[in-house]
Amino acid sequence: MSKHTISITKTTNPKPRPDENNLVFGKYYSDHMFIMDYDAGQGWHDPRVVPYGNISLDPAAKVFHYGQTIFEGLKAYRTDDNRVVLFRPDENWKRLNRSNDRLSIPAVDPEIAFEALCALIDVDREWVPSAPGTSLYIRPYVIATEPQLGVSPSTKYMFMIILCPVGAYYSEGLNPVPIHVESEYVRAVKGGVGNAKTAGNYAASLKAQEGAAALGYSQVLWLDGVHRKYIEEVGSMNVFFKINGTVVTPALNGSILEGITRKSVLQLLRSWNIPVEERELSIDELVEAHRNGKLEEAFGTGTAAVISPIGALHYQDEKLTINEGKTGELSSRVYDTITGIQRTELPDPFGWVV
Ligand code: PMP
Repeated sequence: MSKHTISITKTTNPKPRPDENNLVFGKYYSDHMFIMDYDAGQGWHDPRVVPYGNISLDPAAKVFHYGQTIFEGLKAYRTDDNRVVLFRPDENWKRLNRSNDRLSIPAVDPEIAFEALCALIDVDREWVPSAPGTSLYIRPYVIATEPQLGVSPSTKYMFMIILCPVGAYYSEGLNPVPIHVESEYVRAVKGGVGNAKTAGNYAASLKAQEGAAALGYSQVLWLDGVHRKYIEEVGSMNVFFKINGTVVTPALNGSILEGITRKSVLQLLRSWNIPVEERELSIDELVEAHRNGKLEEAFGTGTAAVISPIGALHYQDEKLTINEGKTGELSSRVYDTITGIQRTELPDPFGWVV
C-alpha cells in the first residue's frame, strides 16, 4: 500500500500505441501523466495520475520568463520475464533536488517521487515496449507557475512526469561518431547553473550544436568557460578518454552535469581494477596524447545511448581519428555490461536495478 494517496483518473480514450520497431525519441507519449502542485504555505499536494493532455497556465507564469524549471531523465526496461525495472532512480531524485536547490525550487520528497513514478508506470505498463533495445523514457520535471513578473522565486510549482516509449539507440551495434571541438561557445560556467539539469543550459547549447551539424559533426566537445581549454562534456553526455591504459574523465567542477551513467561507469571500471582518474584534462593534453599514439579510446556516457564512442575529434584544422574510427574494446565491454545489468540479463552486483 502506498503511504501517499495518489489519486488515479484513467483515460476513457486510450491512444493507439506506436509500432515498437519504429519508435522516434520524444515523439510518442503514453496515455497518462503525473501531476503534483506546490503552493507556499501548503507544500506539495494533490499527487495524481491523470490522462495525458494539455495543461493550462497563466501567460505570466514565471517558467515562461525566467526559466525557473528543472528536469530529469531516466528509463524503464521490460525484462525477458516481463517485469518492468528502473536503473538507479534514487540517483535521479537526488539530482532532481540538487537542481531544485540551485534554482530555488522547493525539494520534492524522493519517496513521493518514486511512488508517483510507480503508480504512473503501473497505469501505463503496456507502454513499456518489449522489442530488443527499446525502453520507456521517463521525464520528471518541475515548472514555476506563479503568474508574477517580478524576478523572485515562484510561490507555485507543478511537478510532473511524462513517459515516452523509445527505440533501440543502436540497431546495428555501437556507432562511433565524429565530434567538433567547440571553441566559440561554452555550455556552462562554474558558479552558474551548469551542474543543474535546467532548461537554460540546453537552450544555450543549441547554437553550437547547429554549427557542428552544419559542418557534418554529430555533436560538440565542450571546453570550460573560464580557461577555454579544459574538456567538460560531449553534447549532453559526460566524456571519457582512455589514454595509455588509464581512463580519464573530467572531475566534477560545478559546470559539469553529474551523470548517473558517468557514476556507474566509474564504479564499474574501478571494480575491474582499471586505472581511473577524475581530473582536469586540457584539449592540448589530449591532442598531445593523440600525437604520441596514446589516445586509445574516447566515448560519451548518458541515459539515452549509455555509451557513445567517439570516432574522431575535429579541433581547429586537425582531424584526430581515434582507434581508426572503430568502437574500442573497453567501450564495448562497458556498454555490454551496463545494458546487460539494466535489462537484468547480467547479475547486478552493485544493486542498481529496482
Ligand atoms: N551531461 C548532460 C548535459 C546531460 O544532459 C546528461 C543527460 N542527463 C548527461 C550528461 C548524462 O547524464 P546521465 O548519465 O544521468 O543520463
